[in-house]
Amino acid sequence: MAGTVVVFDFDKTIIDVDSDNWVIDNLGATDLFERLIPTMPWNSLMDLMMKQLHLEGKTIEDIAQVLKRSPLDPHVISAIKSAYALGCDLRIVSDANHFFIETILKHHGILECFTEINTNPSYVDEEGKLRIFPYHDFTNGTTCSHGCSLCPPNMCKGKIVERIQASVGGKKTFVYLGDGKGDYCPSLKLREGDYMMPRKNYPVWELITSNMELIKAEVHEWSDGEEQERILLQLIHRSASSSSLLADCNFHTVPMVSHEALIPMALRVPH
Ligand SMILES: [Mg+2]
Ligand SMILES: [Zn+2]
Repeated sequence: MAGTVVVFDFDKTIIDVDSDNWVIDNLGATDLFERLIPTMPWNSLMDLMMKQLHLEGKTIEDIAQVLKRSPLDPHVISAIKSAYALGCDLRIVSDANHFFIETILKHHGILECFTEINTNPSYVDEEGKLRIFPYHDFTNGTTCSHGCSLCPPNMCKGKIVERIQASVGGKKTFVYLGDGKGDYCPSLKLREGDYMMPRKNYPVWELITSNMELIKAEVHEWSDGEEQERILLQLIHRSASSSSLLADCNFHTVPMVSHEALIPMALRVPH
């Protein structure tokens, strides 16, 4: 199972809400946030909102307390712990920010399960205010530094997945879990033999199911934490058994039917 790389989106995939909205809503800044959404990129707006909360006297500790209360399904925690115990290489690719993600993962004791967290950089400045910056700097010159038209200007998750693919070498199986529009670009980068796990009825699922032929990975939908855990662990075991079969150099003599029997819920969409 060391051959399996599991890439998680964070918001609405690991936690069950969007961490940005969760913080804004719980600290009473929803009205201003919604008024400003049409005026600037989301990532820049989050930095501005952190300044605003600081002006209103909200501390970094207030933000941390709110983050620690964000809903995280126990099945998701156990899926992450099991995948880690099985030797998988776990990574996060998220458009939230480092402070939010690390605060939550540390609180639940699962930060160490992850090899890396790819997200927007953030830090607490000398005044105690959280600053949030874009992953790809789009603020000097061009409007879009990464050149991908599918993704928001501050982050192309597809580019990040390509970088991970190149860094781990060719033989690893990837499993990608996500819910949002931003998870569509990376799902197009997955290869045959990989698995895409879109959250059912969420934007990435709508995009994928609208044209299944564009996706090379096998698609397995999930709706809640219980399903996410069950399907992810099945796929990890399946990927491990196929790679050990490959390692035996006996691949062509192995009846493939047993793999299909193990997971009957691969998503098939008529086109
Ligand atoms: Mg998400
Ligand atoms: Zn992209």
